[in-house]
Amino acid sequence: MFCDFSAPYLFFFSSDAPALLYYSHVPTALFAIVFGIFVYLQNKKELPNKLLLVLTVLFALLNILNLLAWVNIDSRVVTSAWLLSQVVYLTIPILSLYLYQVFVHKRDIKFFTKILGGLVIVVFSGAVALGLTMSSFDLVNCELVETSFLQIYQTTIFSAVFLALLVSFIKMLRENSLSENERKGAVIFTAGLFLFLFMLIFTWQIASVMDNFELEQYGLFGMVIFLGFLGYLIVRFKAFDIKMIGAQALVFSLVVITGSQFFYAKNTTDIVLDLASFALVAVAGYFLIRSVKKEVERKEELEKLSRSLAVANDRLEELDKQKSEFISIASHQLRTPLTAIRGYISLALEGSYGKMDNPEITDLFHKIYTIDLRLSQLVEDLLNVSKIEAGKVQYKWDETSLEPVVRELYDMFIALAKKKGLSIAYEEPKTPLPIMTLDVNKIKEIVSNLIDNAIKYTEKGGVTISIESDTTVARVVIADTGIGISKEDAERLFGKFIRTETTKKMDTGGSGLGLFVGKTFVEAHGGRVYAESDGVGKGSRFIVELPFINPNKNL
Ligand code: ADP
Repeated sequence: MFCDFSAPYLFFFSSDAPALLYYSHVPTALFAIVFGIFVYLQNKKELPNKLLLVLTVLFALLNILNLLAWVNIDSRVVTSAWLLSQVVYLTIPILSLYLYQVFVHKRDIKFFTKILGGLVIVVFSGAVALGLTMSSFDLVNCELVETSFLQIYQTTIFSAVFLALLVSFIKMLRENSLSENERKGAVIFTAGLFLFLFMLIFTWQIASVMDNFELEQYGLFGMVIFLGFLGYLIVRFKAFDIKMIGAQALVFSLVVITGSQFFYAKNTTDIVLDLASFALVAVAGYFLIRSVKKEVERKEELEKLSRSLAVANDRLEELDKQKSEFISIASHQLRTPLTAIRGYISLALEGSYGKMDNPEITDLFHKIYTIDLRLSQLVEDLLNVSKIEAGKVQYKWDETSLEPVVRELYDMFIALAKKKGLSIAYEEPKTPLPIMTLDVNKIKEIVSNLIDNAIKYTEKGGVTISIESDTTVARVVIADTGIGISKEDAERLFGKFIRTETTKKMDTGGSGLGLFVGKTFVEAHGGRVYAESDGVGKGSRFIVELPFINPNKNL
């Protein structure tokens, strides 16, 4: 049987069709289904993603069935589409409630609740199949005449769904376990879902009561609003476990919008133009998303790396601190016995414990003394390093002149140089230096280490110690005719534990710490220390440069 009015036929435009009919049905269905598939594909295992897909598919089905009922004049087609759409229409709010529970509370609902929901749908489907929801077909208006059973059943279920949604929403707001962001997300989700259901059900129920089915078209836009909210949730809060980015959302909407233009194409030119712009948007969008995605991945990787680096760094700093503490304690404990040993040996050599008439034993005692001295120096260096690293070096500033300090050290080393068969000389500055602000002990430590090194690393020739100056700085220069330093080494020697390859092979002992400590001390005076050499085997010059005015004297 056919309706006796010229209905718009299937998907072709007709002036009889309500203006919004295609716009409300086809693009919204398409948009929903594409959105649902997109979310599902991003994370197939997550229950909310699956539920959203089913919901969007059902929504699209509802649109198509509704459209079929609208545009057909064959009463059998209209009836089947109409009846089937009743089942889908009832299922949507129930499934929405399920999605709400799973999305907001992040866990599946109880089995019993599922059965209950399923039962409501099954009973209704049975009623539809038995013809309890339609009383007759109105051929004049080309529509079904619905029964009051349908009205009551639907109203009851929809009211129950809204009530459950409301109760659950209030409960969620009171829950303390949700974080600020989770709560925000849940509120936005609920608002979107509520708008969707409300718009759909409200307009459709009114349409049915008022027998004005044109109202139905407006209800469908609720889905677009809901999906818009979801899009925001995805971009802002990574909802549905999707790391979607703004660019993706933009391209996605552009593709849907340009894609939906096809439904309004009136002639071939329109179709060609639509097709070209669609292809352009799709291709450009693809490349845009790809590059943005790569950028985001790189950023995330970097963030991850810097987080683990920060952790490693903290750990390293902690370890470094522990090491310094350990060295400091160990060195303090070592220092005292080493000094005591030297004291006893000195006494023995002086004959305090009886005459030392065995030259072999005397020689042995001298050797022990030297080794002990070297060990003490090492302990001193280690102690200094640990103090430097802990930032605990203290300076005691004195207003004094530099010359006597250097002179005293020169005097101290004459014997050692002579013993090794080396010449040693001291050249006073041509004009006397002004009084300077110095930590005398630290200066002694630096300069004596440099003279000691010069003697240690020279086999032939000698060592010259001199003081030069210009208008602002004094320079203590320790020059030797020893093993020399290569250009690269000259720069790195002032680091911790650095010794040149040549030195390592020599039997001189040494820790590679003296220059590091010295550099720190000189810099505390506002000066610098550096090495010069014409190359390996050609002697070296170590220069300690100190400004006349110490910039740190008030620290
Ligand atoms: P140490 O002498 O205990 O090894 P230093 O920090 O005083 O430690 O010196 C670091 C390294 O610099 C030495 O091991 C040596 O390789 C090099 N060096 C220092 N002074 C001289 C010098 N006068 N001639 C050649 N090399 C030197």
